[in-house]
Amino acid sequence: MIAIFRDVFLGFVRVHILHHAAKEAIYGVEMMEELKHHGYDISPGTLYPILHAMESAGYLSVQFEVIEGKRRKYYRATKTGVRALQELRKKIRELTEEVLE
Ligand SMILES: [Zn+2]
Repeated sequence: MIAIFRDVFLGFVRVHILHHAAKEAIYGVEMMEELKHHGYDISPGTLYPILHAMESAGYLSVQFEVIEGKRRKYYRATKTGVRALQELRKKIRELTEEVLE
């Protein structure tokens, strides 16, 4: 993939993650399917490091739950994550108003 698309798409992926994690607890596979639905073919090798980095940076919190004998990691947006999302929304609105006019 051309570098500029990859960079921009990975930014969009982070916005999707924050958006969904602010609404409800999400887990990796579910997020991957959601993104596929939007046309982002993202591998676990790309998605999981993004989730971990967003967790380390304080945007996501993690909770473990056991579902059918498997330990699953659920992510939710933290207060910092929700604030970041609000800032991103402004930037997205501004950008779309300009580039989609
Ligand atoms: Zn989405």
